[in-house]
Amino acid sequence: MIRRNRNAKIIATLGPSSSDPQNLEALFRAGADVFRLNFSHGEHADHQQRLFNIRQLERQVNRPIAILLDLQGPKLRVGKLRDGEVELLPGKAFRLDLSEEPGDEHRAPLPHPEIFAALKPGMTILLDDGKLRLSVKDCGPDFAETEIMAGGPLRDRKGVNVPGAVLPISPLTPKDREDLEFGLDLGVDWVALSFVQRPEDIAEVRQIVDDRAAIMAKIEKPAAIDCLDALVELCDGVMVARGDLGVEMPPEEVPGLQKTIIQTCREAGTPVVVATQMLESMIDVPAPTRAEASDVATAVYDGADAVMLSAETAVGHYPVEAVTMMERIITSTEHAHYYRNILHAHPSAPDATAADAISAASAQVAHTLSAAAIVCYTMSGSTALRAARERPDASILVLTNKRDTAQRLALLWGAHCVHTADVSSTQEMAEKACRIAAQEGYAKAGDKLVVMAGVPFGTPGTTNLLRIATVG
Ligand code: PEP
Repeated sequence: MIRRNRNAKIIATLGPSSSDPQNLEALFRAGADVFRLNFSHGEHADHQQRLFNIRQLERQVNRPIAILLDLQGPKLRVGKLRDGEVELLPGKAFRLDLSEEPGDEHRAPLPHPEIFAALKPGMTILLDDGKLRLSVKDCGPDFAETEIMAGGPLRDRKGVNVPGAVLPISPLTPKDREDLEFGLDLGVDWVALSFVQRPEDIAEVRQIVDDRAAIMAKIEKPAAIDCLDALVELCDGVMVARGDLGVEMPPEEVPGLQKTIIQTCREAGTPVVVATQMLESMIDVPAPTRAEASDVATAVYDGADAVMLSAETAVGHYPVEAVTMMERIITSTEHAHYYRNILHAHPSAPDATAADAISAASAQVAHTLSAAAIVCYTMSGSTALRAARERPDASILVLTNKRDTAQRLALLWGAHCVHTADVSSTQEMAEKACRIAAQEGYAKAGDKLVVMAGVPFGTPGTTNLLRIATVG
């Protein structure tokens, strides 16, 4: 029996530091609920082996684990440079164009006509994660004349960002399409979409994915912030991708945007993940800075569903220690004096639906009775999402007859999912809830449970029943 004693979940990115069966098990036992396969790196064979190892671990520990495939997306890059590197000097002119001639200190190839189509004089072009900054003076369909505002060394194939522009590009490159089909065939639970710019991007991917996986929109561009409500409405989950977001937007705006994105998702009942540099210094040392501990705690106070580790677990020297530390910070924060007050600082009313009425009532009843858990019967998982939206005091035990629902919801706030056969009567519903709650370590004899379900049983979308059960 494995149960977590916290609500916020942990996502660990896999890489060379963390992929063999022993490492995976150590990460899971330390607290990782979701494993992320980052398709910006690695070969298909590596990812396939990781996926196989995760599913094997899942059977061994008898707990559903979510697998998140993170697509690289249309990452824009400069082309080749003579000698691989040039020094850009502030105040000097620098040209970008479509010529394939290797670049030098006066010009560089930029093999993206869509960037030139979107440029206007006065816009800023960022190179190498924003370390170098160019101001556009003149431009045409195949060139841009710029002035170097912030200089430094520029290397081959470094990333390019154009913060002010919505680029007419598909969210899926040919590589992404191949990676997506590959991952869907292998049975990933979530697909994260990088550099989302507009609602149509989600629709395009939904057409391919259908219901084979849940779709997570990575918010990392100003254009995505401008249509945040529509994106949150259309996708199944959201990631605050602070790495690229902090390049495209001034870093000082990222904390406020994090709060806005999380609050928008919480109101909609859409799971939300805070990502990037959470315990960055633990890539090299076995303890975080106090500021990093505080950053993880902030995401927990904000009510994020999950917090994510990237390089810390993928290539760091202390992957298990990083997960252990995250677990300790989450647990400590969730027991801190003001946690509940801060978590519920911006309540949003339930929708006028039976599922929301039952979810809100369950949270209230569980609070009044100090119930050991809310037990939620669900097929698609949507009732569990509404139950978690309430951020109740009691743990949420999700019972589902669909294995992929249990796996997907491994990243949902407060949810402990169990894959089990459906019930056919209210008596069986209550008895099974009590039995599984006791088995899973959520209740003991005499404890009360709040059970929510839909009658007739086995019909999706019928949540209409709330029952108080006492464990015998
Ligand atoms: C980010 O930019 O914060 C992010 C999570 O994306 P990636 O790690 O793919 O750059």
